[in-house]
Formats: sequence, C-alpha cells, structure tokens
Amino acid sequence: MTKKMLNFVNFDKETPLKREVLERKEDFKEIYKEFINQKALEQSSRCSQCGVPFCQIHCPLSNNIPDWLKLTAEGRLFEAYELSQSTNNMPEVCGRICPQDRLCEGNCVIEQSGHGTVTIGSVEKYITENAWENNWIKPLKIKSEKKQSVGIIGAGPAGLAAAEQLRKLGYQISIYDRYDRPGGLLIYGIPNFKLEKYVVERRTKLLKESGIKFYQNFEVGKNLKLEELRKKHDAILIATGVYKAREIEAKGNDIKNIFPAMDFLVASNKKGLGDKVELFDDGTLNASKKNIVVIGGGDTAMDCVRTAIRQNANSVKCLYRRDKENMPGSAREVNNAEEEGVEFVWLSSPKEFFGKDKIEEIKVNKIKLGKPDDSGRRKPEIQKNSEFVTKADMVIKALGFDPENLPELFDSKNLKVTKWGTLKINFETMETSLPGVFAAGDIVRGASLVVWAIKDGRDAAESINRFLLNKENEKQRVA
Ligand SMILES: Cc1cc2nc3c(=O)[nH]c(=O)nc-3n(C[C@H](O)[C@H](O)[C@H](O)COP(=O)(O)OP(=O)(O)OC[C@H]3O[C@@H](n4cnc5c(N)ncnc54)[C@H](O)[C@@H]3O)c2cc1C
Ligand code: SF4
Repeated sequence: MTKKMLNFVNFDKETPLKREVLERKEDFKEIYKEFINQKALEQSSRCSQCGVPFCQIHCPLSNNIPDWLKLTAEGRLFEAYELSQSTNNMPEVCGRICPQDRLCEGNCVIEQSGHGTVTIGSVEKYITENAWENNWIKPLKIKSEKKQSVGIIGAGPAGLAAAEQLRKLGYQISIYDRYDRPGGLLIYGIPNFKLEKYVVERRTKLLKESGIKFYQNFEVGKNLKLEELRKKHDAILIATGVYKAREIEAKGNDIKNIFPAMDFLVASNKKGLGDKVELFDDGTLNASKKNIVVIGGGDTAMDCVRTAIRQNANSVKCLYRRDKENMPGSAREVNNAEEEGVEFVWLSSPKEFFGKDKIEEIKVNKIKLGKPDDSGRRKPEIQKNSEFVTKADMVIKALGFDPENLPELFDSKNLKVTKWGTLKINFETMETSLPGVFAAGDIVRGASLVVWAIKDGRDAAESINRFLLNKENEKQRVA
C-alpha cells in the first residue's frame, strides 16, 4: 500500500486549475477545470489511509473516502465509482459545492499536519464524471414493482435522494414541485459558475427514466391539499425547503430596487436556462451597469455578488456585519468573490435606505464585535457615530431564509412545527405529527447544505420503507 498511497510526502496538494479571472467573469460556466486522469490518481495517492478516518466522520454521508481514494490511486475507477455512489446519490454535485473546508477536507489528517489536505471533493467529482463519460451510470431497472406508492413534495436534493432510494426498493414514486423544473435550489438558487445545470438535469432525467413520475408547476396547498395527497399515496415525504426571505429592519427598506436574493438569482438562472424573463429583460433584475450592494455573508450572498459581477455591474459591494473570520459562507467562495473584484465591507450594517423613486444611497453603521451570544458567536454591536454613506442602484437582501407557514399553506392544522417554523419530526423515524407523513431537508433543519439534504432524504427513505413494510404486514395479518 505504501507505494501507491501516503504520497503526501512526494506530491504537493493540487486542486483542478481555476479559470483565469478575466475569462471567468465573462460567462457563467463553472470556474474549475476537470482533473486529468493522471492528476486524480496522483492526488488520491496522497491519502494516508488513517485507521480512524476523520474525513469520513465529518462527511454527513459517512462517505467511504479512504477506500475510494485508494481505488482511484490504483486506477480501479469503476470500483471507486460503485463505492462512492453507494452512500451518495449525487457525488458529482457534492464534489462541486460542499464546503469541504468545513467538512471532509477540513478534517483531513494530512491537512492538520501541515501538508495540505487531500483534495477529496475534486476526486469525488472526478470519479463520477468519469463514470458518466463511460456510460456506467444507468437508470434503475425495477424487477418487481410494489403496489404501494409514495408522494414526495419537493424535487430538491432531499426529495430526489429519497425518491431514488425508494424507487430502488420498488415503490411507485410521484414527486410534486411548484417550480417548472425539478432540482430545487440546485436549479434555481445555486448559479452555474458553481454548478452547471446539465449536472442536475442529467440526474433528474435518469430518475425519470427509472420510472419516477414528476409533476411540475404543482403546488401542494394550491393544486391539492395535503390531506387529498395523503389519500392518493401510502406515505408522504415533505421536502419543501425554506423560502421565506428574512427582512432587514431598517428605514426605507420598501424603496424600489431593493430585492430579496432569490428574486435576483431565480431571474438569472432562468435566463441562463434560455427562458424569457421580463423583469430581467426590462432591466429591473439585471445588474448590468449598476452599483450593486448585497447585504449578507452566507452562500446566498456570495452567489449574488458573483452573479452581479458576471452581469457586468459597475461596482459590487458586500456589506456584512461580522468580519471575514466569522462569515458563515464557505471561505473558498469568499476568496473566489474577492478575486473576481467584489469589495467586502466587513463589520457594517445598513441603517437607512434613501432614494426618491428608487434606491440611491444607504446609510451604514460600522459594527464592532462584542461578547459571544447564545450561539457562541461574537455579537455585532453598533459603533457610535460611525455612520457612512454608500451609493447603490440596486440592493440585494441575502439575510437567510425561514420556513413558510406549512400548516396554513397545506391547510393542515395538525402538522406540528417548531418555534422556528420548521417541521417537528420524531428524529428516529423522521415522521411528522401526521402518521405516514415524513419530512427531510431544509424544512426540518432550517437553511442548510445539499449534502445534509441528501443524507436526510436517504434516512427518510429508510424510515418510509420500514413504515410501509409494517403497513403491508399489518394488512396481511388482518386479512
Ligand atoms: C443561493 C443559494 C446557494 C447555496 N449554495 C450552496 C452550496 O454552495 N453548497 C451547499 O451545500 N448548499 C448550498 N445551498 C443550500 C442548499 O441549496 C440547500 O440546503 C438544499 O438545496 C436543501 O435541499 P431541500 O431538498 O431541502 O430543499 P430545496 O432545494 O429548497 O428544494 C425544495 C423544493 O420544494 C419545492 N416546494 C416548496 N414548496 C412546495 C409546495 N408547496 N408544493 C410543491 N413543491 C414545493 C420547491 O419548489 C423546491 O423545488 C445554497 C442555498 C442557496 C439559497
Ligand atoms: S459529500 Fe461533501 S463532505 Fe462528503 S466527501 Fe463529498 S465533498 Fe466531502
């Protein structure tokens, strides 16, 4: 093994090449190039094959990372793919957009010993891209389809992962989604420069070819009530994500040209998909030639600033109330944004918005960080007499998302929610307060990550299977 592995002493850490800034600002294509075969093999061989692999422990899916790195280093790419896909329904998506610095790679022992992490995410992407190229990824063939059916509300990563797992077991699956395309935030939130749409569309096509039925432009609550859907299916999974944008408590926040992040991102993503988007075409949601100010410090804010850069904005500023070290967004994406010309105004928070017919200026407070609050993070405090003014033609609010009021939207008062509005579930079974109705992803966790949505979808599928087997057994016992 030593000959093939533990090569961190022979090879430095390398990530796939990033496209030049000037080139990548001109389009929305992904910014990282693909590993060539030799590089993927070499980088995999840097793994030290730890007895207790911290990378695996810190991967929400418990991916068998050391084993698929070893198989890759040995050139056994089919086996590496089989192993990788056995714990993850979308390894090529996670390889691209997981914040690896906080998950697997951040806990790599080689990283901690100062040699630079094994580039796990890039190898994971490589293994699956190679499998697609070689046509190893095929639709599911169901030998005997079960009579029982599951209705899934939401075609984001949680719903899609659950659908695939349940279909493998032979259940009839219907997915209902209010968007016109499946994929959830993978399609309409996350921009192409992080995740190109074909990567997601390829997956949903595969699921369709596996016999899963998709009902798009179908809003549960409007087109059908939850209770009506429950009558159609033997079990239900709610995987609707969180979409209620948080508001800024500042005077003037209702002035024209101040938009929630998702309005801006959905318009841009739709445009990229070739749709006609009136509010983009008439300039309303287009950053071109404007001074853009984005408020927030998470992944959504980073996606907004980088989208604005690509739409040819005059200037792009990001106002965030904490400092760089305390940003919730991935460090990698902040770095990419800085490279692309985004100006970060750390420790700042809007006090008031001004403008006659539309936004023109923002009065901003400078912030200092106080003592840690309940969450353990240092509390932002306004510095007295620190105000300054910044110009803006468009403001994008990216302060996070809360759940919509599902009991009201679904007309289902017995669906219990937590004090945050997320769905209350039994954490062992993922069942909600309604028997046979399960929940997964952001609607349970609050705004989170794709990898956690996939994990929840898989766990929910296991639980739904147990529930349906019990139901069937009970039916046969009574008959
Ligand atoms: C801009 C942005 C960037 C992000 N970047 C990253 C990143 O880089 N890495 C990362 O890991 N995570 C990222 N995330 C977070 C990640 O996208 C989410 O955690 C993940 O998509 C949650 O998956 P989900 O399946 O729970 O919900 P979603 O992906 O939100 O899917 C929910 C689906 O349910 C549908 N739906 C909602 N209500 C109804 C209804 N009543 N009837 C029918 N359908 C309904 C919606 O249309 C949607 O398709 C980002 C999020 C945003 C907003
Ligand atoms: S799924 Fe995410 S955390 Fe897990 S190995 Fe892949 S990139 Fe790392």
